Order: sequence, then structure tokens, then C-alpha cells
Amino acid sequence: MSATVSETLIRDVVAEVLGRLGGSPGSAPTTTTPSSTAAVNPACGCPVGTAKPAARSPVLGKFGVFADANEACEAAHEAYQQLSEAGVAGRRKVVELIKEICYSKAEEWGRLELAETKIGRLDHKIEKLQGQRGIPGVEFLNPYGLSGDHGITLEEFAPFGVIGAVTPSTHSIPTMACNIISMAAAGNAAVFNAHPGAYKCAVIAARFFNQAIHRELGIENLACIVEPPTLESFNAIAKNDRVKLLCVTGGPGVVKAAMASGKRAVCAGPGNPPVLVDGTSCLDNAAKCVVFGAAYDNNLLCIGEKEVFVLEPFFDKFMSALEKHGAYRLNSSQIETLAKAAFVFPPGQGAGCPHPVVSRELIGKDPEVLARAVGATIPRGTQLLIGETSADHLFVEEEQMMPFLPVVRVKSVAEGIAAAKKAELGYKHSAMIHSHDVANMTAMARALETTLFIKNGSCLAGLGAGGEGYSNFSIATTTGEGICNPRTFTRVRRCVMVDKLRIF
Ligand code: NAD
Repeated sequence: MSATVSETLIRDVVAEVLGRLGGSPGSAPTTTTPSSTAAVNPACGCPVGTAKPAARSPVLGKFGVFADANEACEAAHEAYQQLSEAGVAGRRKVVELIKEICYSKAEEWGRLELAETKIGRLDHKIEKLQGQRGIPGVEFLNPYGLSGDHGITLEEFAPFGVIGAVTPSTHSIPTMACNIISMAAAGNAAVFNAHPGAYKCAVIAARFFNQAIHRELGIENLACIVEPPTLESFNAIAKNDRVKLLCVTGGPGVVKAAMASGKRAVCAGPGNPPVLVDGTSCLDNAAKCVVFGAAYDNNLLCIGEKEVFVLEPFFDKFMSALEKHGAYRLNSSQIETLAKAAFVFPPGQGAGCPHPVVSRELIGKDPEVLARAVGATIPRGTQLLIGETSADHLFVEEEQMMPFLPVVRVKSVAEGIAAAKKAELGYKHSAMIHSHDVANMTAMARALETTLFIKNGSCLAGLGAGGEGYSNFSIATTTGEGICNPRTFTRVRRCVMVDKLRIF
């Protein structure tokens, strides 16, 4: 046998083995040796990930993608232990990799997600991936130290281990990515159950993330995902003993399911954010902010402006300002036609009184699609449809998640605050006010008790885009942790040294 033949044979055998294992010769090396650019442990100068190279486990070659939820949890547990070995430098490397991959893949993955879900806008899908750079990482975890006559005490933010996570259809890859950043920064591994209508793109992204992490750190299954996701796979993740915490991002159904699981859950639940415009601040700026926020990704954001209450004397001027900033005004009969198309009343829901459900046909669609449904022709570049409704209209009471924004006239600030509170449905999620009156701002903040309360900006200012602060796509409203960050996914552990080590 010639040398050439044996080389070819070896290459073929390697390719076949890799193929069976779910990888490809070109995709990622199966060796556990970290690359030359691997992170270095500052304590010993060793490349991180060499302390305990990925063992040759039966799951080698999956790169985080599993048909079986329990197998995914087991693999994530092994990855969690490997991440512990890789130290803080290893976590930092994971954060850096996810951020940079999201940035470089933003356009490709934005297109992929839009093609699969058919909701939202490409420009904003791209921005949501690029924006992962603003998610806090390891630097967020400063221990809390105490020092006194009895020595010193340190409270550390330690990982839980494996976290079971559920992501929404509205931002599938962005939510998974920011969850991985926050969870891995805190030293955890994760198993994801994505939305059935948005999981294919998430699987591609998860595999890519794990391949990159494996190349750098030798850890293969840090961010696992179940393919395909089902209610059964969610239940299996929730029940699995390896899973110490759940983090769910979505509507009321998944929040209820997570809370009923018996496991501790961080629940980023639904919203229906109202806006109050009292006329004391610049109406033009208010309109610009409202159009920007409500049109963002065709109003898919949970923080997005979903209804506006405007004091009567300023109503007409405000509507004109909305039109100036790219909104198109529907008349009352067009609004009713749109409502008939936008809400369905499935029988059997609600006690004898069917509860409206937003039609998937119109969620996250472009303004042109909504306009077509009501027979309107709108100018190119229209960002948002608007229209005057009553405070008890379906578009006010339901989280519509489409680019039609109801605007309601109110006679007083008190009436506006009361209507905003009712529309917010007690979710305590997000609310906005456009005002220069601190008494009105304070009254609304106190009445609504929302997690995010933004004054004189768009909803996105609440996530650091145009306002101060960090970002995340999981806002734990229901369970109260607020905008998720690495600390959300930690247990506080106290370490006490009695009488010694205080240096003065
Ligand atoms: P959705 O509730 O239909 O689905 C969210 C996720 O939960 C999906 O993965 C879905 O498969 C899963 N799910 C739904 N019911 C479940 C059940 N009974 N058991 C287990 N899993 C279940 O929501 P969506 O349409 O994908 O997303 C939009 C909703 O999510 C809106 O209500 C929005 O406000 C909310 N949301 C909230 C945040 C936040 O940070 N608070 C962020 C994004 C979206």
C-alpha cells in the first residue's frame, strides 16, 4: 500500500467517524487540545481547559444538539464541571466568543431567524445580535466583602450548575445568546428548549457556539439544545435532577408551567407596556420615541410601546407628530376590520366567555401586511400603523405584538394613569411617560410598579439603547429578578474567617 493511499484511507475513516458523531471534518476539531489562542489561566500560566480535557464521553460530536432532553442535561452537567476547571478565564473566554460570534454572524443569523419565524424585521434582527456585545459578563460578579473585629467574610456569587432555559419565538437566537452569556459568566451550563416555530435557527447557532467553545476550551456541550423541542422535552428538563434552576422567557403559558414545575424559576413573562403623554414635554420627541419603540421588530419586543394615552388638548398635535415620524393613521372602520383579523376567539377558553387570542397570521408582520388586511395603501417606508381607540379596545387590552398602535384620549393625568395601569394587566413589566412634570412621573411609577419605567425615551432606552444601563432579552418581571445579568444565575455563598486576616 502506498503512502498516498493510506493517507487517503485515514482521511476517509476520520471523515466517516466524524460524520457518524454529528460533526464534519471541516467544522470543528474533535481533539480536546485547546488552540494556540486559548485563554490562559493567570494563576499558573496554563491554557485554560487543559486542567481537565473533555473526556471521551459517549456524547462526543453532538456539539450541544440532542434529541433526548435527559441526555442533554447529562452532557450539560459534564460541561459545567469542565467550565469550573477552566476557571474565571474560561468563563471570560466563553462570553467573548458568544459576543463576537453574534456580531460576525448577525446578518446571516438574522436572515435565518426571519426565514424560519417569518416575524419581525431583518434590520432589527441584525441589531439584536450585534447588541449582544452590551450584555454584562464576568465583570458583573464582584464578591461582597465584610471586615471587622471578628475577621473577614466574603459572600461569593457561585453557579447553580445546569440551568434549564426556554426561549421565545420573538427573539430566538438573541435570547439564547444572552442567556448563555449571563449563565456561563456565572459558571453555569444550560439546556435550552426553544420555541417550536423558532428552534431550527437556534440549533444552528447553538452548534456553532459549542464548536467554538470546544476549539478554545475543550468543552463540547456547554449550551445544549433539544431538537426538536416539545412540551415533553420541557417537562423532562424541568424534572431532571441535574437541572437546578429554570429560566423561562415567554408568555403566560410558559411562566405558569415553570412556576408549577416545583423547581426554582426565573420567569421573564409577558408585558403590555402603556405610554402616557401629558403634554408638558416635547410632543415631537415623544412621537419620535413612540414610533421608534413600537415599530421596532414590528412591535415584537415585550418592552415595546403597546398603547398610548394622551391628554385631550394635545391629542391632535401628537397624532400629527406620529405621522411626521413615519406612522400611518387608520380610520375607525379600518381599525375594526384589523381587530377582526388580529384577534381570534377560540371556543373553550374562558369560563363561557371566550378569551381573545392574537392571530399568528398578523403577529410581527410588516405594516404593509396589516394595511392590506384592511384594504389600505400606505406609503413606502411606513414604520407603524396608528389609530384612535377607546381605552377598553381589544388592541389596548391585549398584547398585540404587531405594528398597529392604539392611541387613546384621556381627560386628566389621573385618568391616564388609571387606564395605563389597567392596560398593563398587572404584569409589572414596562411603562413609559413623556413628561417634564415630576409629580406625574412619580404618580405613574408608583401606581404601575413596573420593572422598567422610562421617562422621555423609547422603550429601548430601558435596555441601554439611548438610555444608561446594560441590556438583556430576558426581563424577569414575574419573579422579580429584573433585567437578567450574570448575578441572576448565582447562589450566594458565604465564606467566614474568624478573628484573622483583617490586616489592620
Ligand atoms: P410563548 O409563550 O408562545 O412561547 C415562549 C416559549 O415558551 C416557547 O419556547 C414555547 O414553546 C414555550 N411554551 C409555551 N407554553 C408552554 C408550556 N405550557 N410549557 C412549556 N413551554 C411552553 O411566547 P412567544 O410568542 O414565543 O413570545 C412572546 C411572549 O413572550 C410575549 O408575551 C412577550 O411579552 C414575552 N416575552 C417576554 C420577555 C421578557 O423578557 N419578559 C422577553 C421576550 C418575550
